[in-house]
Amino acid sequence: MAEFELIAQHFSFGHKPNTVVLDKGDDCALIKPNPSSSNLLAITTDSLVAGTHFLADISPKALASRALNTNLSDLAAMGATPKWYSLALTLPKDIANNQTWLSEFSQQLAALSEEYGCYLIGGDTTSGPLAVTISIIGEVEHSQAMLRENAQVGDLVCVTGSLGDAAGGLQFVLDKDLTAVKPVYKQHLLARFNHPTPRVAFGLAVKQYVCCAIDISDGLVADLSHIVKASQVSAEIELSQLPVSDALVGQFGQTQACQYAATGGDDYELCFTVNPQHLMDINKIAEQTGIAVTVVGRITESDQSNHSVTTLLNGQVQQLTQLGYQHFA
Ligand code: ADP
Ligand code: MG
Repeated sequence: MAEFELIAQHFSFGHKPNTVVLDKGDDCALIKPNPSSSNLLAITTDSLVAGTHFLADISPKALASRALNTNLSDLAAMGATPKWYSLALTLPKDIANNQTWLSEFSQQLAALSEEYGCYLIGGDTTSGPLAVTISIIGEVEHSQAMLRENAQVGDLVCVTGSLGDAAGGLQFVLDKDLTAVKPVYKQHLLARFNHPTPRVAFGLAVKQYVCCAIDISDGLVADLSHIVKASQVSAEIELSQLPVSDALVGQFGQTQACQYAATGGDDYELCFTVNPQHLMDINKIAEQTGIAVTVVGRITESDQSNHSVTTLLNGQVQQLTQLGYQHFA
């Protein structure tokens, strides 16, 4: 049974209390702790497990970065301000006794906590194979939350930054013998995989114009599919428009770079949809924040039952071989 089917079948029980504005199915759950206030708590959890999300030889600094930044990225996709998080650590004995490892891990966590104004409130520590789970809480005003269900026909589909770099970096993690075309390419791609940059400031800045966003954790096509299903629309994206870095193209060539950009996970860029009338405002924010925004497609009407993402190459339908990552699939 695949990940999303499993959740729907086994973990969708109970009556939703009226304090729960949004639950399973989006980047964060939205909770209304105070009935008289329109401020919501945005809550999300992400786990990183050795062998699935990273290899056991990962540096403590990279593990801390990836664990916190993936969670911050979900808040960014909701337009929420980070506030508090809890940390569940499962450590094998050798790491629990390795002071250097622990201080490098915690120093990186501390630096990111400071950078994003987020405070570690508690957690749990157990013994076992290395795994890190963070649950993070942010705040967002109800009318400004960027939900997956809010895409409208005619919206432009946009992405931040460049895509596919993390998938390129992963190749160097998996294959220690992979030759770098240039050392700086390898450096750039590995840094993008090990230290993703959650687009928190960007999410906060655009939420006044943007109603619908997701962060790209499983690949653009897979994550945009969540948007079209939740919004009951379809989308088309133009592969030749996908923003790819010089390092990705230089290392892997144009065709492979494009495949990584469309389907590679772990970039933690934002994909959002916006009414074309706000494109100028978005471009202004891109300039102010120094984060590139690229229009890669548009939201289209769909048949009732078929909400899908069509990939085009120079206007012609182009099937991709691999569509993105799903656990257990
Ligand atoms: P993301 O990639 O944005 O972190 P996920 O793909 O991990 O989101 O999860 C998709 C949705 O399913 C989220 O809304 C999440 O809260 C929900 N979910 C995941 N696992 C479970 C579970 N075991 N029980 C209930 N809900 C879950
Ligand atoms: Mg997400």
